[in-house]
Amino acid sequence: MHLYVHVPFCVRRCSYCDFSIAVRKHVPAREYVECVLRELSLLRAEPRPGLATLYLGGGTPSLLPADSIATLVTSLLNAFPSTPSLDVIEVTLEANPEDVTSESAVAWRRAGVNRVSLGAQSFDDRVLQWMHRSHDGARIGAAVRTLRDAGLDNVSLDLIFALPPELDRDWPRDLGHALALQPTHLSLYGLTVEPRTPLARWISRGTSTAPDDERYAAEYLLAHERLSAAGYEFYEVSNAARDGLRSRHNSAYWSGHSYTGLGPAAHSYDGRARRWNVAAWEKYAGAIRAGRAPLESEETLTPEQRELERLYLALRTDAGVARSACPPGRLTAWVGQGWAEIRNGRLVCTPEGWLRLDALVRDLTGVEAIG
Ligand code: SF4
Repeated sequence: MHLYVHVPFCVRRCSYCDFSIAVRKHVPAREYVECVLRELSLLRAEPRPGLATLYLGGGTPSLLPADSIATLVTSLLNAFPSTPSLDVIEVTLEANPEDVTSESAVAWRRAGVNRVSLGAQSFDDRVLQWMHRSHDGARIGAAVRTLRDAGLDNVSLDLIFALPPELDRDWPRDLGHALALQPTHLSLYGLTVEPRTPLARWISRGTSTAPDDERYAAEYLLAHERLSAAGYEFYEVSNAARDGLRSRHNSAYWSGHSYTGLGPAAHSYDGRARRWNVAAWEKYAGAIRAGRAPLESEETLTPEQRELERLYLALRTDAGVARSACPPGRLTAWVGQGWAEIRNGRLVCTPEGWLRLDALVRDLTGVEAIG
């Protein structure tokens, strides 16, 4: 079983972020942990299977005090008694660099966390300020070293690319800084403009520029070149790992496995239907206090929707799709254009193909892409 726990709290909202968060100076950690554990007790599914992965995402999970993280992780692991030992399962914590201290890193490791995904985004202080991030560039390297000293070697870095041109962000320099830290994993996200974010307001006022496709493509392809040369394998459109240290939790999503989500806005999928929780923290906590499941809605996927989703997710990854799933005409055209290649009898997107993923899925199925 793959378990996701959404921790909604952040100290401020980043300029591009439209996630479901609750901005708080003081995090109601105890109440939050109690709510998540009560939500779990409201779920059916006894006997519970063992956990294969546990992922604390957000928001900013590292804002929770270390003892709350320890209580949460320990209680969740205890609630799934068939879970194999901590050496076998993957327990990921999303953290912001400013929350990593020697004490917190040691406490996370003791609690069972064995993978940390660090929201680095850029190493340029000017860019980080524009993003409304709370750390500076130097803090990222310090955080990685502190995590390693605490025995947390499996560290992933998130970076954002395709920023507005007026920022004059030096992408090759940021890639160089990231690679110098030798993370086991990198996640690279192109900036998108979401409605009702500070960035969307800046663009509508004319004080910022929308990211352009050419910059996006150039920076994406450069990242492929630099990371591949450094021994990283892009195993998904936005994710690269070295030494086989892929995110097992996210890989489960992409290969269509079922998963359970706890916390505000968390999604669950049982292989047939998807359900998701109310997004607002107060509404979520209110439902739990009243003894109700905090469900916002659910949908049952038709066999056609499931097939489309399977195809889309498979093309996002280096598993690709069976050659036989692709009409010969399309196959020849895509391979001829350099957008895909045949590997072990499967059609797998090249970086140029991943840049056109939605169009390729539309071309293959005649249906607008999803996700
Ligand atoms: S830290 Fe992450 S979740 Fe929180 S506002 Fe920034 S981008 Fe959004």
